[in-house]
Amino acid sequence: MDIKKADLIVVGGGILGTFHALHALKKGLKVLQIEKDNFPVGSTVRNFGQVVPSGMADRWFNFGVKGLEIYQDIQSKTDIGIRNNGSIYIASDNDEVQIIHELSKHYKTKGYDHEIWTKEMILKKYPDLRPEYIKEAIFFPQELSAEPEFMIKKIHEYLAVQYPNYSLLYDTAIIGCEENENAVVLHSSRNEKFIADQVVICNGYEFKILFKELFDDSGLQISKLQMMKTKPLSNIKLPGNILTGLTIRRYESFEENCPSFNSIELPEHYHELKANGIHILFKQGIDGSIIVGDSHEYSKGNRIDELGFSINSHINRLMIQEANRILPLSEDLITSSWAGFYSQHANQILEIDLTEKIHIRTGIGGKGMTASAGYALESINKIL
Ligand SMILES: Cc1cc2nc3c(=O)[nH]c(=O)nc-3n(C[C@H](O)[C@H](O)[C@H](O)COP(=O)(O)OP(=O)(O)OC[C@H]3O[C@@H](n4cnc5c(N)ncnc54)[C@H](O)[C@@H]3O)c2cc1C
Repeated sequence: MDIKKADLIVVGGGILGTFHALHALKKGLKVLQIEKDNFPVGSTVRNFGQVVPSGMADRWFNFGVKGLEIYQDIQSKTDIGIRNNGSIYIASDNDEVQIIHELSKHYKTKGYDHEIWTKEMILKKYPDLRPEYIKEAIFFPQELSAEPEFMIKKIHEYLAVQYPNYSLLYDTAIIGCEENENAVVLHSSRNEKFIADQVVICNGYEFKILFKELFDDSGLQISKLQMMKTKPLSNIKLPGNILTGLTIRRYESFEENCPSFNSIELPEHYHELKANGIHILFKQGIDGSIIVGDSHEYSKGNRIDELGFSINSHINRLMIQEANRILPLSEDLITSSWAGFYSQHANQILEIDLTEKIHIRTGIGGKGMTASAGYALESINKIL
């Protein structure tokens, strides 16, 4: 039997596992990363690719800021599709205007660069938006956009070129993991054996293969999000991350840092959207197509099956209607629609140190593209 050995094995080829691998490689460790699918198809490739620390609270904001630095460092060495066009949150009524001013006050005290934009400034940069939707906006020039469909493979390629101590196996499901004398032994479904001093398991929303009994009562939840993509729209220019009124009424940074957040009224036309966990975000890809989303439905962590596999067309219609209040958009421009899933936890992440050598890190929720790079640095420092 061919037995592969490493200082650290990372189970999971998504963004969280990949940044654990990167930080361990930077410390000089021999790292083996193992992914069950032929290439990653989990949360990491199905998302918006908005790298938005501005939407995060407390230490997750700090992890996000660190992430901006890490992404840009990699991008300076090889093209992983990271673009620096900033993030804009567009307020559509007086309550949302009040909230963005409160957020501005908070970020002034933190020294996080941002600007309040008038309607004229917004329309100058984004002339395709509907003027009647816009009141004011808060803009963060330092924030980044990624191309989730291909970025993770590009980072894997970068690690392979940059670090001779890195190996990556796709198409290898780990079905067993136990500590044995002074090492950890992993088994794959092909009956291969892997040995490491330390193991980090970043399994995303997969809770049925490894340590099922541990996840059953872990407090994990799964969120199912519906997403849509338009055909390439070369006549529209939407650089950066566009976030809108319902996002201002949803994201943690606003909830945690804006005193008026809990007292503002919810306008009638938002009721059904809120009930379906909808807020409208846009991100234009390099090819000119625009990703539009999203909605949220929830299940317990071990009951993902109950969320179903179909796309609810009523939810898509609600999103298109609301998106069309912001940017001229109709159903016939949509060329694909998909469901993305992520796992989340009330503690913002689930960290289980099963032994001194086996570590589980999952449930990073809707902030993984932004915060994984910074969080994984702290996590690896603790583990090693
Ligand atoms: C629709 C949507 C939009 C989002 N938008 C954003 C956004 O704009 N900005 C942002 O910051 N975040 C966003 N997120 C959140 C972000 O995508 C996730 O937080 C992040 O991708 C989670 O990464 P992960 O590595 O934990 O999970 P995953 O990407 O799911 O990776 C886990 C991997 O582990 C593998 N695996 C599991 N078990 C095993 C095993 N036993 N053996 C081998 N491999 C295994 C899986 O196959 C999978 O590839 C969004 C998420 C979704 C779904």
